[in-house]
Amino acid sequence: MTNESSNISVPPPSSWPHDRSQFDWRAAGLHYFGYSFYLKQVFGFRVQRVSVDAGFTCPNVDGTVAIGGCTFCDNRSFSPSRRLPRQDILDQIDDGISRIKRRYKCKNFMAYFQPATNTYAPVEELRPLFEKAISHPEVLALAIGTRQDCVPNDVLDLLEELGAKVPLTIEYGLQTIHDKSLQWMNRGDTHESFLDAMERSVGRGFEICGHIMLGLPGETHDDMMETAREVADSGLDAVKIHNLYAVENTPLATQVRNGEVTLMELDEYISTLVDFLELLPPTMVVERISGEAPGSFFIGPQWCLDKPAVLRAVKAEFEKRDTWQGKKYRSPEA
Ligand code: SF4
Repeated sequence: MTNESSNISVPPPSSWPHDRSQFDWRAAGLHYFGYSFYLKQVFGFRVQRVSVDAGFTCPNVDGTVAIGGCTFCDNRSFSPSRRLPRQDILDQIDDGISRIKRRYKCKNFMAYFQPATNTYAPVEELRPLFEKAISHPEVLALAIGTRQDCVPNDVLDLLEELGAKVPLTIEYGLQTIHDKSLQWMNRGDTHESFLDAMERSVGRGFEICGHIMLGLPGETHDDMMETAREVADSGLDAVKIHNLYAVENTPLATQVRNGEVTLMELDEYISTLVDFLELLPPTMVVERISGEAPGSFFIGPQWCLDKPAVLRAVKAEFEKRDTWQGKKYRSPEA
């Protein structure tokens, strides 16, 4: 495949996900298998994500499995009753690319269907959306964020078909393996739905990323490490990890203000995160280790807003302990 805008040869989708054991991130001086390192190894050049809002809602927002959405999620923009008419997908991609190009030198993009549940519609409605995105001449890959209870087999068949055309990643909002926490966050499903989705998703030729949240109320350090051990051998190709943070207009905002929920301090997060990463296999890509806390409407913890400081603290912790991702990982086959 050739990216028409840049004339750069792109690895064939049949080789995605790649054999990640060939990428020696430790030799590159890294403490974990970071996403930008991974993308550069796979593509040979920078690839930037461009966010697409396809106008979906969520089954725990529209009342199908719950109402109100997740406790921490400001879902007003994708509430079915408040939905604003959205821009055409190709126009969104054009606008997003122009914005990114003002900040970075980049010619290659991954269309990222990001807000809400992006497989929450019949296949006949999903297909034209995804096909339109990959028809954009500067888009060479696709990422789709969704809930694990919204991927019936025909949707996975569609993703498998598209994944044979372009590198494709599906992102599941796992967050935790503990049902007590899923109940707290009003997710409207149980861990069983993740296990079921993974069983039907692995081996279809697309990459699978799981979102993890540390510092959920009531979760002990042991609970979080239990999540890490299960994630390690879950079949996930990649993870995105961040701490629980609060934004305005959410039930969590009220709970934090009332003192019902305490958010993690930086030191605790860094130490827990490094413990977590030590338990993951060295071949699992770590797409993110800090939240993308929005400046406006943000409540806390305040340290989230200084992302470079968080990344420096993570590096310092790895160095202090002389450790790295996977140091404590034990393969089930070992
Ligand atoms: S966190 Fe995800 S599933 Fe929950 S309401 Fe927000 S977009 Fe929907």
